[in-house]
Amino acid sequence: MKKIKIINLVKFYTLLFLYKQPMCGYELIKQLEKCTGKKISASHVYPFLSLLKKNKIILIKKKGERGKKDYALTKEGRYFTKRLIDKFAQLIEFDKKIKICVSCGCKLLNGEYKEKIGNKILCFCCKYCAKNYRH
Ligand SMILES: [Zn+2]
Repeated sequence: MKKIKIINLVKFYTLLFLYKQPMCGYELIKQLEKCTGKKISASHVYPFLSLLKKNKIILIKKKGERGKKDYALTKEGRYFTKRLIDKFAQLIEFDKKIKICVSCGCKLLNGEYKEKIGNKILCFCCKYCAKNYRH
């Protein structure tokens, strides 16, 4: 499978929607517009869909007498999308664990300086921030 980069929200949402249920291009565009609050043109969506199809991430299912075309994720496509979702979930989890210096607001990625002030233990990036905070 060729590597497909998901570099914008429209692409990410496209995969998420198809993960939930197969749908036709028109439905997809309507859903994308609802979600992003932007006008989405076919040229935003169809080239990406054909790229996904080429890479066997989606396939086309014909439905009904009038031959409505639904896009559906393949098995690989579901796996690909699930991994994408997991990656995003991890990113969010990771962000939640990051503490922030209560004095200057910077992210405490490499440990933190803790100090008990009043009856609370507060986290700072350095002892100087703690000192500033006390004053
Ligand atoms: Zn600080």
